[in-house]
Amino acid sequence: MDSKLNPSKFCSKERMLFMSYFAIGLLLLSFTLTVIVDDVNAQDENVTINTTKLSNNTYMLKGSGGNIIVSVGQDGVFMVDDQFAPLTERIKEAISNITDQPVKFVINTHWHSDHTGGNENFGELGAMIISHDNVRERLSTEQFSEFFNRTVPPLSERGLPIITFSDNMTIFQNGDEIKIIHVDNGHTDGDSVVYFTKNNVIHVGDDFTDKSYPIIDISSGGSIDGLISSLQTISSIIDDETKVISGHTEISNKTKVNDLTNMLKDVRQNVSQMMEDGKSLEEIIAVQPTSNYDRIYYDHNIIKPEDFVTHIYQSLTNK
Ligand SMILES: [Zn+2]
Repeated sequence: MDSKLNPSKFCSKERMLFMSYFAIGLLLLSFTLTVIVDDVNAQDENVTINTTKLSNNTYMLKGSGGNIIVSVGQDGVFMVDDQFAPLTERIKEAISNITDQPVKFVINTHWHSDHTGGNENFGELGAMIISHDNVRERLSTEQFSEFFNRTVPPLSERGLPIITFSDNMTIFQNGDEIKIIHVDNGHTDGDSVVYFTKNNVIHVGDDFTDKSYPIIDISSGGSIDGLISSLQTISSIIDDETKVISGHTEISNKTKVNDLTNMLKDVRQNVSQMMEDGKSLEEIIAVQPTSNYDRIYYDHNIIKPEDFVTHIYQSLTNK
């Protein structure tokens, strides 16, 4: 090793300076990575779209960004979420291997760009985009997401939902009765779940995770109590056989939804109690209120326990 680069050879002042620059460099690097990670993933030539048949006429498409469900049949393609714009051609190709029908409807489960990035392309192709009112509102104005530390510019008119709803709606397509339900404000304030009742398949957006802590996007109106309430709603409308699809997990089920709900209730209760006892956020984090669950939910690449606890604390502070 070149001794000039070895900090152990520095005098203490130089060493401090070196460590400061090193720390700043690391911070900048992690900030830059956070900002660009979505786009790099999306434009990666190596991203392939993998198709999994879920039921009689629904399929899951996995690529980069939020998982997609398509329902196919005589009425055309009904699609939930559309990942990133650079992937549209590959998504279309994957769909063309299932059906020669065009994409007629696209539902956005929420506004995050890894679920809506293909909106402009599919809108241009003539798909009708549907979402909760708040999703259109957020997609039509510049957004800043605190957690992702990034500013997202508004979409052009052709990428905006043209049909919006405030509560829920039902669409009859491909022999199915598809219920689109605005659940409580958990991940964001525009979360919807899409339940294909005849196929017994549900897309729950980013409300559900099973190998990482869920993200409560406070700056997009999410909250811990909203997330718990949303998961309870989801659990109440599905059964033990329902295939649960979310943005970033494998195919899951009602038991896992209930497990997540119980974890959230437990950690929320502990954080809330400590807040009532006058503890600061730093003191609460130091107690590690998630330690019983880190083995299951701590995915080092997604969200750290202290971030998750911070989101719960902020939620309860905002109440
Ligand atoms: Zn999301």
